[in-house]
Amino acid sequence: MERIERAGERRERGRSALSGLLGAVVAPLVGERLDLPPQLLGVFPDLAAARFRRGGLPPRVGGWVLGQRTVAAITLWRTIFVAPGVRLDPALLLHELGHVRQFEASAAFPLRYVWESLRRGYGGNRYEADAERYAVGRLREPRSYRPPSQDV
Ligand SMILES: [Zn+2]
Repeated sequence: MERIERAGERRERGRSALSGLLGAVVAPLVGERLDLPPQLLGVFPDLAAARFRRGGLPPRVGGWVLGQRTVAAITLWRTIFVAPGVRLDPALLLHELGHVRQFEASAAFPLRYVWESLRRGYGGNRYEADAERYAVGRLREPRSYRPPSQDV
């Protein structure tokens, strides 16, 4: 019995070493899972519709396209990648959530986005303007949560 348990523990250790190794290889590519603080989700529950990751290759590739080292955040389908060290600013996250909605609205969105960027540049891209309008509008909406200290 004891021997079996030890073998099980060894297997467990082996697995965690393997997942650690996989993490070391994979994290630079896809980042690490990022759980938003509950307070933030309390104020903006719609953010729960997206998945969040910290780091990874996508923010860097987005940066290269714009001639920068990285972008603060980038969205690929339902996943929002936030660059390392970037604050979880609601304005930024809601802008990216606007992009999640664009991905959901049309399967052709990625191609249309690239086409817009080629024609008008990042600044003139109507999908960027649309995502920003969404974020600004959402920030103006009444909050569903207020910190308790505000009521005192
Ligand atoms: Zn954007």
